[in-house]
Amino acid sequence: MSITENLKKIKSSIPKNVTLIAVSKTKPNSAILEAYNAGHRAFGENKIQEMAQKHEILPKDIEWHMIGHLQSNKVKYMAQFVHLIHGVDSFKKLAEINKQALKHKRIINCLLQLKIAKEDSKFGLSISDAEQILTSDKLTDLKNIKITGLMGMASFTSDKECIKNEFETLKSYFSKLTQYSSPVFTPTILSMGMSGDYQIAIEQGSTMVRVGSAIFGERNYT
Ligand SMILES: *Cc1c(COP(=O)(O)O)cnc(C)c1O
Repeated sequence: MSITENLKKIKSSIPKNVTLIAVSKTKPNSAILEAYNAGHRAFGENKIQEMAQKHEILPKDIEWHMIGHLQSNKVKYMAQFVHLIHGVDSFKKLAEINKQALKHKRIINCLLQLKIAKEDSKFGLSISDAEQILTSDKLTDLKNIKITGLMGMASFTSDKECIKNEFETLKSYFSKLTQYSSPVFTPTILSMGMSGDYQIAIEQGSTMVRVGSAIFGERNYT
């Protein structure tokens, strides 16, 4: 099936209140343009420099989502245009994003990444780390960011019950953390679910799914 057909099929299978991010990492601009011409505007990348290169060439009304693990020293390359940064896992990174956003007179939206998978390879904050950030006095100084929700990744496993439990955990963290809502923390987005597990994620309350291979086909890493 073509990118256009895949997109159409996935969009028709998810509820209207769930935002679909088309994860285009490693894929050429021609693939992104096919999805763009089919009407899609929200794309996700996991490397800042790759995203910046694509942003420069592709139509300017694309919303770029940074979904990868964040390196503070590279935030400056996307601060001018990034729409949402999904993978923030420290106060220090929030402070760096704030600093770069201020330079461009922007407010940058971020999600806190929480660790829900048991695998050591997955990044993210614990619930108590997240509480510490959200209750920090210093958070109110960050006038150029908004934390608009949470992001998480389930374990890479075929065990559907395990995946369901992990998403359920993230949803419960989301509910728990809403008590810390403030001008800086306005939680509305729960970013969870990928090609293999987005249906389970939606059943557990996801409002944003990040789908790559089910739209663009398998990735070749060379
Ligand atoms: C690559 C990636 C995705 C998309 O993965 P698929 O399995 O291809 O849908 C989603 N989220 C993150 C954080 C990713 O790195």
